[in-house]
Amino acid sequence: MARRPQVAKTVTALRRQVACWRKAGETVALVPTMGALHEGHLSLVRLARRRADRVVVSIFINPAQFAPSEDFSTYPRTFAADVAMLAEEKADLVWAPATVAVMYPDGFATRIVPEGPAVAGLEDAVRPDFFKGVATVVAKLFIQVAPDIAVFGEKDYQQLRVVGRMVRDLDLPLKVVGAPTVREPDGLAMSSRNGYLTPDERAVAPTLYRVLTLCAQKIAQGRSIAAISAEGREAIERAGFVLDYIEARHAETLMPVKSIEDGPVRLLVAAKLGKTRLIDNVKVAPRSS
Ligand code: AMP
Repeated sequence: MARRPQVAKTVTALRRQVACWRKAGETVALVPTMGALHEGHLSLVRLARRRADRVVVSIFINPAQFAPSEDFSTYPRTFAADVAMLAEEKADLVWAPATVAVMYPDGFATRIVPEGPAVAGLEDAVRPDFFKGVATVVAKLFIQVAPDIAVFGEKDYQQLRVVGRMVRDLDLPLKVVGAPTVREPDGLAMSSRNGYLTPDERAVAPTLYRVLTLCAQKIAQGRSIAAISAEGREAIERAGFVLDYIEARHAETLMPVKSIEDGPVRLLVAAKLGKTRLIDNVKVAPRSS
C-alpha cells in the first residue's frame, strides 16, 4: 500500500516540515487545489513530482473566491479519498488548513487586487470578485509553503495568467508552471463540478470542446475571428448552453485580438448547462506550428 502523505493542518506544522526539507537541500513544488481530486489534479501532481524533490498539495476550499450565489456550501468535499489518491501519487505533504480561520484569522483585512489579465472581461465579467479571492489565497499559499515551483492547470487559463502576472509583479521567488488540460475520452475537460451534470447534460457537455476545437482550427486557417466566434456562439447555444463568452484572446495578456497575426492566440469559452457552469479553452495553433 502507498505511504500516506503527512497532513499539516496549521501553518506552523507546514513550515516545520518544509524547513526540514530545505535544510537537506531539497526542492519543493506546490500544487494548489480545492480537493475533490480527479485525474486533472493528479496530472499536476505527477508533473510536480518530476520537477522537484518534494511535493506539497494544498486542499483548501477558499470561501473568498465564491460569490454568495455560488456553490461554496455544496462544493464536493472528499478529503479521505483525496489523501488516498495523493498517497498513490507519492505526494509528500497535504496542506489542509484545519479551519477557514487558519487561513483568514479574525480581523483579516488584506487583499490582493490583481489587474491586467484579471480584468480582461472573461471570468471577471461574470465573477467580479473571483480573482481577488484567488490571488489573495494563492499569495498566502506561496508565502506559507515558499515553493520553488507551483503547478497550475491550463484548464483555468485566466487564473494561470493572473497567477503568473502576480508572481512577476511581486517578485515572488518561484516559477509558475502550466499543465495541459486532462479530458474525459469524449473531450469534456475534467472538473470537480462535472458531477453536478444530469445524465442528459453530461451527454451534451462535450459539445463545448468540439465547437471550441473546430473554431480554433478555422481561426488558425485565417478565417475571421469575429465571424468564427459568432458561429461558435450559435452552435453552443443551439446545443442548449447559455453562453457567457467565447473569445479569442492574446495567450499571454488575454487582451482582445483581431486576427491570428496578433497572436499567440487562445480561444476561451464559458457556458452554463442547466445549473452547472463549464469553462474550457484551447490554443489556436498557427498553420506553421
Ligand atoms: P481546483 O481544485 O478546481 O481549484 O483546481 C486545482 C488545480 O487543478 C488548478 O490549477 C486547475 O487548473 C487544475 N485542474 C483542474 N481541472 C483540471 C484538468 N481537467 N486538467 C488539468 N488541470 C486541471
